[in-house]
Amino acid sequence: MQKKVVVIGAGFSGMAAATSLAQQGFRVTLLEKHDRPGGRARSFTAQGFTFDMGPSWYWMPDVFEKYFNKFNKTTADFYALQRLDPSYTIIFGEDDFMPIPAQLTQVYSLFESLEPGSSQRLKTFLDQAAYKYEVGINKLVYKPGRSVTEFLDWQLLLDVFRLDVFQSMHQHVRKYFRHEKIIKLMEFPVLFLGALPQNTPALYSLMNYADIALGTWYPRGGMYKIVEGMEALAKEQGVDFCYNQEVTSFNSEGGNINQVITATNTFDTDIVVAGADYHHVEEKLLLPAQRSYSEAYWQKRVMAPSSLIFYLGINKRLENLQHHNLFFDEDFEPHAREIYENPKWPTNPLFYVSAPSQTDPTVAPAGCENLFVLIPVAPDLEDNETTREKYYDLVMQRLERLTKQSIREHVIFKRSYAHQDFISDYHAFKGNAYGLANTLMQTAILKPALHSKKVKNLYYTGQLTVPGPGVPPSLISGQVVAHEIGLAYS
Ligand SMILES: Cc1cc2nc3c(=O)[nH]c(=O)nc-3n(C[C@H](O)[C@H](O)[C@H](O)COP(=O)(O)OP(=O)(O)OC[C@H]3O[C@@H](n4cnc5c(N)ncnc54)[C@H](O)[C@@H]3O)c2cc1C
Repeated sequence: MQKKVVVIGAGFSGMAAATSLAQQGFRVTLLEKHDRPGGRARSFTAQGFTFDMGPSWYWMPDVFEKYFNKFNKTTADFYALQRLDPSYTIIFGEDDFMPIPAQLTQVYSLFESLEPGSSQRLKTFLDQAAYKYEVGINKLVYKPGRSVTEFLDWQLLLDVFRLDVFQSMHQHVRKYFRHEKIIKLMEFPVLFLGALPQNTPALYSLMNYADIALGTWYPRGGMYKIVEGMEALAKEQGVDFCYNQEVTSFNSEGGNINQVITATNTFDTDIVVAGADYHHVEEKLLLPAQRSYSEAYWQKRVMAPSSLIFYLGINKRLENLQHHNLFFDEDFEPHAREIYENPKWPTNPLFYVSAPSQTDPTVAPAGCENLFVLIPVAPDLEDNETTREKYYDLVMQRLERLTKQSIREHVIFKRSYAHQDFISDYHAFKGNAYGLANTLMQTAILKPALHSKKVKNLYYTGQLTVPGPGVPPSLISGQVVAHEIGLAYS
């Protein structure tokens, strides 16, 4: 008889787990609190604008391709991808914009123009990073993190120094480059991992390979096209989606969960996969004796930052903006300290603006611009309307000055999103935006485990377990947990 699996949460990880389990022959029901899939990558429409709520950077296209290929599909069966050129622009100050070209030869020229001799060093740096990407993304991240023995294969042991696990990104980048702008460019991708370059293993220079060599892509229609594609594929594989089903508790028997309970239904099950935030499932859905980790454990985790976001509809086209714009016109060090060391609302934050309507006319009415403005901030801050407005003014004033145009008076739609929304929408621990930081002490077997230590048939997936935050890792996480369940139950 087919075993029944209930998956909680229709984010990338939950959908990847559900679809992979259905492919293996499990009978899968997916319970989602919201009325649609996507989780942190949901979208909404308002006044003719379509806003992606979370992720906007499509990196590591091979990971998406590999996922769809598992089901004899390609991404092109579900959405059309376009490589962005420039990949993105870094704004260092007034009239000081640095577009990062998609062509590798042009990136070499850019480096050479800033720091003579650096293009050759970039080549060496990227060759190493390519190797790390190959081992990291094709080998390491697919390991379930059950025990250290998984990492004891000869090749990996021989490679441990080549992979730069014990050196920080901060040191690594400075061994190759001196120019301040190059250092900022090379350290920026680490911010996706939710930790400082000082605390991130240089293994993650694989992110520079992803950035510079593999490129920044965009699914026409927006990032939500990926979600729609994954939902369609899951349904094809037989996953039963139940929306507006917030899980509130479990019934258990003999050390296993046998029923998953929502406000309106009870679902019998043989296995549970929790793709909702790990801390929420542990602390709010399980009984104390069933929890693998104490509250003290969670308090000691380094969380990735939260975010203050503004979704803005503008009634004119804007100048001097590209699809992805990083405003690095302030010093990152004080902002970073205000995120990680002395958490508080930042004094002079860096910020990021995405203007997808620069590439894609379908996400805004004709003659209008769609803006997503994001300020990374510490988790667990007091979040209220007054603070949000203060930062809106601060950032918009900088945006107007640096891009030399009036914007605020042309805003016809505005919605803000921060800690309180992450908590009420996703039960996010401390209002985190993207899970646990990828520090060395929170990598692989040192992450919250994907199999519960107390409840035999309970598994976890998503950005708080292996391999970590981001869309590609969440996709991988779902596949890894499905594989583990396949091994345990076949
Ligand atoms: C603002 C922002 C920007 C980002 N930018 C990027 C980017 O550019 N590129 C990139 O690769 N990554 C980015 N990320 C990270 C990426 O979006 C996430 O790592 C990824 O989407 C997490 O997927 P998940 O499946 O782990 O979790 P989620 O997407 O959070 O999914 C969990 C699901 O569980 C549901 N749920 C919660 N509790 C319950 C319950 N009790 N019952 C039923 N359902 C429940 C939630 O509603 C949700 O749908 C960004 C994230 C944010 C927030």
